[in-house]
Amino acid sequence: MEHYDYIAIGGGSGGVATARRAAEYGARVLLVEGARLGGTCVNVGCVPKKLMWYASGIAQAMRDAPGYGFSAVADTVDWAALKTRRDAYIARLNGIYAGMLDKAGVAIVAGFARFVEPHVIEVDGRRFSAPHIVIATGGRPVIPDIPGAELGIDSDGFFALDHQPRRVAVVGAGYIAVELAGVLNGLGSEVTMLVRGPGLLRGFDTMVRTELQAQMEEDGVALRFGTKVRALSRRVGGTLAVECDDGSILEVDALIWATGRRANTADLNLEAAGVHAEAGGVIATDDFQNTAVEGIYAIGDITGRAELTPVAIAAGRKLAARLFRGQADSRLDYSDIPTVVFSHPPIGTVGLTEDEARERFDRIEVFSTRFTAMAHALTEHRPKTAMKLVCAGQEQRVVGVHVIGDGADEMLQGFAVALKMGATKADFDNTVAIHPTSAEEFVTLRG
Ligand SMILES: Cc1cc2nc3c(=O)[nH]c(=O)nc-3n(C[C@H](O)[C@H](O)[C@H](O)COP(=O)(O)OP(=O)(O)OC[C@H]3O[C@@H](n4cnc5c(N)ncnc54)[C@H](O)[C@@H]3O)c2cc1C
Repeated sequence: MEHYDYIAIGGGSGGVATARRAAEYGARVLLVEGARLGGTCVNVGCVPKKLMWYASGIAQAMRDAPGYGFSAVADTVDWAALKTRRDAYIARLNGIYAGMLDKAGVAIVAGFARFVEPHVIEVDGRRFSAPHIVIATGGRPVIPDIPGAELGIDSDGFFALDHQPRRVAVVGAGYIAVELAGVLNGLGSEVTMLVRGPGLLRGFDTMVRTELQAQMEEDGVALRFGTKVRALSRRVGGTLAVECDDGSILEVDALIWATGRRANTADLNLEAAGVHAEAGGVIATDDFQNTAVEGIYAIGDITGRAELTPVAIAAGRKLAARLFRGQADSRLDYSDIPTVVFSHPPIGTVGLTEDEARERFDRIEVFSTRFTAMAHALTEHRPKTAMKLVCAGQEQRVVGVHVIGDGADEMLQGFAVALKMGATKADFDNTVAIHPTSAEEFVTLRG
């Protein structure tokens, strides 16, 4: 048996961040990873997704170019070449992660860990113990239990595609669904979104949901709401037949399930540790990432809270500071987490939606605007930008910032700082605009 001060199970965003920090604080740390270092974000999430989003943006720029006097250029992509370059970049990142951990003095064991006792784990027959163990095993896509479901692919499968499917069905309405649908459409595939509910991006502000829906349709994505997939089958020649509950059949070359994720708890043998997994495999934690068992913690997607990379990283770092730097109060504040959807156009959002604010406060004021960004003054493609500030109380504290439009992704971070600091509408108004930008509209909004 080998002993450590701290063991991180999972080498994704949360596990790597907490392991490095703890080692920097002087702890003897072991990190166990069963697949590739960097986890979901680096290998099959944020990073390859954002690269595909850039590729799709370049295709759009080529289509926009004639508006600025350029000769028309081909907007078709060599998918295989793009994938090769993307994979090479990710392999470099895997190496960089290994190097960073090594430099910090973190020991790495390759393999899948399972508990044998509350403070003992086993990896391929080797046993390791520590007084502090953090579970950071993330999640994986789930696909529905219907006939032929395995003929479809999930987001991991999307990143494995070595050629571009011509006709694609994307099933789901969450951010991963709209992002993948947007990328494929932008790169020239014929995309149909099959959505069980009545709209996209449940939980987001109505303004951004409505605008996104309109823009996706304008850009040629077929949106079918109130539609469930009943079965999939393969036709002679390779085409997939997607049978929907209204009896219609859609023929596509690929179907992507973006119907949710499940926490990776099944293989951890949690019973041996006395840790209980809830529905969906989620491990409940308190404000300090403690599970119900002393000395066992959980961070990141496994906790089912705000499933985002910076959240997993921040929770992991705070935990390391609490355990190994004597910062007893160190914990992540989960309120007002900003988030971006890399749709076409992108969405940025932080704080409360208008509906949430109305439920929570007696007095609400909403300031909004809708316009065509200057970049599109000369182009045929003229997506709209829409912005909304939700303000609460007599002092008009800004409690929600929502934007859809070009640049929303880079625009939001600074406004999230302002909201977190408790900025009011007057603070926004007192800030001089930067011209000509889209962001300036946020500081010139009038009732
Ligand atoms: C398509 C997609 C796009 C996304 N885009 C964004 C984005 O733009 N921005 C953003 O902030 N977030 C995004 N996310 C979410 C982000 O990837 C996750 O929130 C983040 O990776 C969570 O980190 P984690 O450490 O909790 O888990 P993960 O990064 O999933 O890491 C968990 C690791 O644990 C390993 N593991 C599992 N079981 C064991 C075991 N028993 N023993 C050892 N190792 C184990 C896994 O192999 C994995 O490497 C995206 C996710 C997806 C799927």
